[in-house]
Amino acid sequence: MIIAKARAVDGPDKPFRAAEIKRRDLDLLDVLIEIKYAGICHSDIHTAHGEWGEVNYPLVPGHEIAGVVTAVGPNVTKYKIGDRVGVGCMVDSCGECENCRKGEEQYCLKGNVPTYAGVDKYGEPTQGGYSTHIVVTEDFVVRIPDNISLDAAAPLLCAGITTYSPLNHWGASPGKKVAVVGLGGLGHMAVKIAHAMGAEVTVLSQSLKKKEDGLHFGADHYYATSDPETFDKLAGTFDLIINTVSAKIDINAYLSLLTLDGTLVNVGAPAEPLDLNVFSLIGHRRSFAGSMIGGIRETQEMLNFCAEHNIVPKIEVITADQIDEAYERVLASDVKYRFVIDISTM
Ligand code: NAP
Ligand code: ZN
Repeated sequence: MIIAKARAVDGPDKPFRAAEIKRRDLDLLDVLIEIKYAGICHSDIHTAHGEWGEVNYPLVPGHEIAGVVTAVGPNVTKYKIGDRVGVGCMVDSCGECENCRKGEEQYCLKGNVPTYAGVDKYGEPTQGGYSTHIVVTEDFVVRIPDNISLDAAAPLLCAGITTYSPLNHWGASPGKKVAVVGLGGLGHMAVKIAHAMGAEVTVLSQSLKKKEDGLHFGADHYYATSDPETFDKLAGTFDLIINTVSAKIDINAYLSLLTLDGTLVNVGAPAEPLDLNVFSLIGHRRSFAGSMIGGIRETQEMLNFCAEHNIVPKIEVITADQIDEAYERVLASDVKYRFVIDISTM
């Protein structure tokens, strides 16, 4: 048994505190990772605050994990001690269902095992990356390319793959007009990746406060959604819209910005339902879709794509004592553009 230092939360309104958690002894195919950096995803906040349903506390969030392999189980073949690796939002799946066999483990028909707030195959609750160590079966570990530093790699494991996957699936490419709603952690990755895929990229943010950053990340256009003229001006424009907003928005207004056969993909996951008016879809044969992270193979593909195109998130590295403050800032849309915890401060 390995005892890891961690930061845990005891309830929806509770602050983070120092904790110790147990990590299992290495099974045949397990990899022990010494975590160096962990990103803060808005999903951590939704979960810690109990917004998505009941949670077993104490909870250690964190599913943007970057670190180094420090031990391997006897049958591990993919990784060795010293390898730079990452772990994202899931740590296991059945491996046998149709979706797992396709490499879409996130859509495992028996349910994937989430990195935290889940239960693993040993019947133990899973605890996430705000901790010094984690044990993960090798099939759910990915390799971090040499030219991406570990602090910058961490957010790619969720924000990167969650935006890469729908951009890839719905074909962001030269000649396609892509809009990104919300310029936070996911949003700024969506802009960088869509730009690298060759699409014409527009940011739709609440204000113009972050315009300079958005254009620097690769956006061609930037509009404030607080300005009602934006919706008139851009009506019927986009082939693909990626909505990354963590709160309820007027989805019909955004659907009106799609072209004939355009698709709006919701990756933002507010607890509150959105009010969909079907006429927003019917009129121009539009689609409203969702997408959840990405499979392991695609996550490795995304990391390699980012390495090749020199794409890294813009991060603000914080200490373990600053998690509560970082949560407040994310909730106030004051994140530029991902907080990453330096685990050595734990
Ligand atoms: P984030 O960094 O907080 O970014 C969200 C952005 O949405 C904010 O920066 C802000 O951008 C905009 N926003 C926030 N509140 C708003 C409001 N009331 N009205 C309009 N815009 C608002 O969050 P994140 O980590 O990118 O995550 C975004 C969402 O995706 C969360 O709900 C998260 O749970 C979800 N998520 C889903 C998946 C998946 O697999 N589908 C994976 C990861 C995360 P502006 O300031 O530019 O307006
Ligand atoms: Zn996430």
